[in-house]
Amino acid sequence: MTVTAATRTFAILGDPVSHSLSPLMQNAAFRAAGVDGIYVALRCASAEAGGLLAGIARGGGGGNVTVPHKTHVRAYIERPTELVRRTGACNTFWVENGRICGDNTDVIGFAASAADLLGSCAGVRALLIGAGGGARAAAIALVDAHASDVAVLNRSPAQAQALVEELAVSHCPLRLVQETQLEELEFDLVVNATPLGLELGDPLPADLTRLRRVGAALDLVYRPGGTPWTRHAAALGVPALDGLGMLVAQGAAAFERWWRRPAPVEAMRAAVNAAAVGAPVHGSAPA
Ligand code: NDP
Repeated sequence: MTVTAATRTFAILGDPVSHSLSPLMQNAAFRAAGVDGIYVALRCASAEAGGLLAGIARGGGGGNVTVPHKTHVRAYIERPTELVRRTGACNTFWVENGRICGDNTDVIGFAASAADLLGSCAGVRALLIGAGGGARAAAIALVDAHASDVAVLNRSPAQAQALVEELAVSHCPLRLVQETQLEELEFDLVVNATPLGLELGDPLPADLTRLRRVGAALDLVYRPGGTPWTRHAAALGVPALDGLGMLVAQGAAAFERWWRRPAPVEAMRAAVNAAAVGAPVHGSAPA
């Protein structure tokens, strides 16, 4: 692809951001769809993320926002979608009619990944480990899919309490659980919504053998060769998926916001799968 003055610039803003597969996945999507764009990763501090977002968007581009800036950049979004309003977080931005638009496609990504694992989330009893932006997206996806029970376990109970209070709805009263209660509990789905597993040597987010029953496990984290959480679940015979499916689904929804056309999902999946097993991806951009 030739980069010219007409090429639209997209970026993922985060810190850290070097592990992200989004540049590889989106550049593969841009090539497959034949659109004139380039996607890069920009590591930036919180104080810079909003200004960068606004500059890139007003320059005709767009992008994504990742840890830890998703909440902070909310203030720069002039036209938030309903999902940004409900989560208080933005992971996708672009400009329409001169106004900076923001969406939270993590909700869409989580819903797609949970549906891949369980078929339907209606009536599902789920445990979310973590109470940050990813957990909020997961909680909203589960509530909207009519899960019957969403419990939240987090290192900082105050964060989990805030999530439960803000997102509970009448058909699904979210609740807080403590580490000491695990032996009494059973869930159809247990989700790692912490960054644990991103770094080699991280402890597991929880020991699944302590729960009375676990139907399936989902990890928001992804890394080449699979994650410790999905390996832990698989060793117990529990079906599990890592964060790659969510990454592709949230990225496909973002692509559709930016380019107003269907995303080349198979090309995106092929790019991340090739990266996940360490195979070379033809013509990929550096991550
Ligand atoms: P946030 O920083 O918003 O939240 C992180 C959560 O994890 C907080 O609840 C935090 O607890 C908890 N946590 C952090 N470190 C530890 C630790 N050492 N031990 C126990 N708990 C910890 O991050 P996000 O929710 O945005 O992201 C979480 C993970 O999910 C990241 O790895 C991110 O890359 C991944 N993700 C993947 C996506 C995908 O498409 N696959 C999409 C979105 C996220 P506390 O409240 O105590 O600080």
